[in-house]
Amino acid sequence: MITIDVLNKLLLEQEIKQLIIPARDVANVLLGNSLEHALLVLTHSGYSAIPVLDLQDRIHGLITSNMIFNSMLGVKGPEYEKLEGRKVEDVMNRKVPRLKETESFFRALELSINNPFICMENEQGRFSGILTRRSILALLYRHFRNG
Ligand code: AMP
Repeated sequence: MITIDVLNKLLLEQEIKQLIIPARDVANVLLGNSLEHALLVLTHSGYSAIPVLDLQDRIHGLITSNMIFNSMLGVKGPEYEKLEGRKVEDVMNRKVPRLKETESFFRALELSINNPFICMENEQGRFSGILTRRSILALLYRHFRNG
């Protein structure tokens, strides 16, 4: 049976790099993209939240369909015209859970309690991908099953 000590050792030594979904496979939008474009990307990708980047691949926030729908709401309901001229940076959430690739699995586990995914940064501060709560739970499950 796996003991807490063994589990801690395994987790603390676990390189999180191998769990990352690489940036090239992650749906994202740019700060200056229109909200219409962001809505299309969110709808086509099927994800409820995606990262917001700049042209240098730095992470600035997260955007969800809900943020866009909220910005469309008028007194009588949704008004599509309200999207015109508005950009991703006007409605996104700037609080974004992020980690360096070199940080411990344990820190990723802690962040995943409140976040379905975590944005990863490389040594140069560029977006390198995401770590999902799903991949963290799957790794834990494998450790317990094989332990
Ligand atoms: P999952 O654990 O696969 O359900 O993913 C959790 C969350 O991570 C999703 O709801 C998305 O917000 C985000 N996510 C996962 N995979 C991607 C991807 N390929 N592109 C953009 N966002 C993603």
